[in-house]
Amino acid sequence: MRFENLNLHSSLIQAVKDQNYSEPTAIQQQAIPLILKKNDVLGSAQTGTGKTAAFALPILHHLINEKTNDNRKIRALVVTPTRELAIQIGDNFTDYSKYNKIKNTVIFGGVKQGTQTTALNNGVDVLVATPGRLLDLMGQGFISLKDIKYFVLDEADRMLDMGFIHDIRKILNELPKERQSLFFSATMPSNILKLSSQILKSPKQISVNPVSSTAETIQQFIYYTNKSNKKDLLLYILKDKNINQLLLFSRTKHGADRIVRNLKKKNIQAAAIHGDKSQNQRQKALQSFKDSEIQVLVATDIAARGIDIDKLSYVLNYDIPNESETYVHRIGRCGRAGETGVSISICEPEENEYARDIEKLIKQKIKEIQNHPFPQTDKPMNAQQKKEFEKEKQRRKQEFFANRKKKRNAGNNNSRNKRR
Ligand code: AMP
Repeated sequence: MRFENLNLHSSLIQAVKDQNYSEPTAIQQQAIPLILKKNDVLGSAQTGTGKTAAFALPILHHLINEKTNDNRKIRALVVTPTRELAIQIGDNFTDYSKYNKIKNTVIFGGVKQGTQTTALNNGVDVLVATPGRLLDLMGQGFISLKDIKYFVLDEADRMLDMGFIHDIRKILNELPKERQSLFFSATMPSNILKLSSQILKSPKQISVNPVSSTAETIQQFIYYTNKSNKKDLLLYILKDKNINQLLLFSRTKHGADRIVRNLKKKNIQAAAIHGDKSQNQRQKALQSFKDSEIQVLVATDIAARGIDIDKLSYVLNYDIPNESETYVHRIGRCGRAGETGVSISICEPEENEYARDIEKLIKQKIKEIQNHPFPQTDKPMNAQQKKEFEKEKQRRKQEFFANRKKKRNAGNNNSRNKRR
């Protein structure tokens, strides 16, 4: 199938050509005709499948064809969980609107609101937003949803994971009843289906790449090693001259910072993106990664969701996620839109079980790299050892917080005394 066969407005076809898309992806072939016919859609698709264009192009088509007076009103709203995803969706709308007059803007938290409110005051047709900032600016009177005709809830499963359910309900209450709604989620557990039934009217269901399927173009490898050897194993892996751009996943924010520090000590350019970094820091890190100024971008799962890096070939799991679906999302960052990709996982004994769960989910064995200098010699802990380990961890945590509190109190007393 060709884009020309989809009955999209000519300005959109031209814009898509400029993006060098040769043909619509599977989700685009399914979704675009349904959305053009004004159906509500329940879409099961992960990022990397061309999902954004699947909803953005037909929405733009409708907006172009609608008669409006000069006064721009927000007619389409896309709500998405993360800032990175919001920015990317906004960029896509801008790319596809190159040859028409449809304007979009993106709003998200963690930055000052001035530029965002100025853009809103100037008038936009499409608003891409994360839930918190959207509600905030609605509360301040900068945004009204009363003219919304097209509503997209993107990455609904991640939205609920991140605790946005109450925000979503508040947003839904403000939307006009008469509207077209599109609902996308990578997974469709029962709570997501229930939410979708409260948003959609007689939806058409579409599905591509169920989450258990990993892109066929991604080669997957696993190194079994000991916990204490992970750091050295990573350096060993990075000796491969082909790996000039690596997206590395870390389970925790502290872990991410630690990995960056270790790499920098060895003169490997690296930066981290996670929830404790400001929006500017995240954008800067992502941009230097895209510009190849840094070799390794270390990310936590939530921060990485929605990151779209053209031609990213290598993804590394520094730990094995305990939720198998997270693995599929992680490795889906490379090998996007038909490009080839390599996923490398480092597995310590406590994670062997997770690796087996993943293999069950993806219904294939991940190729083990056997002859490497840091083989796994430790055994996973037994139940008793695990219990003791958790107890010790808890004790250390409490000690850490108690010490921190002590230090803070001492600091407060000092400054109080100084003021006196
Ligand atoms: P998405 O799933 O929307 O995050 O898109 C993933 C990537 O695929 C983005 O870089 C898009 O620009 C790209 N893309 C979207 N549609 C197509 C297409 N029909 N052909 C090639 N690339 C595409």
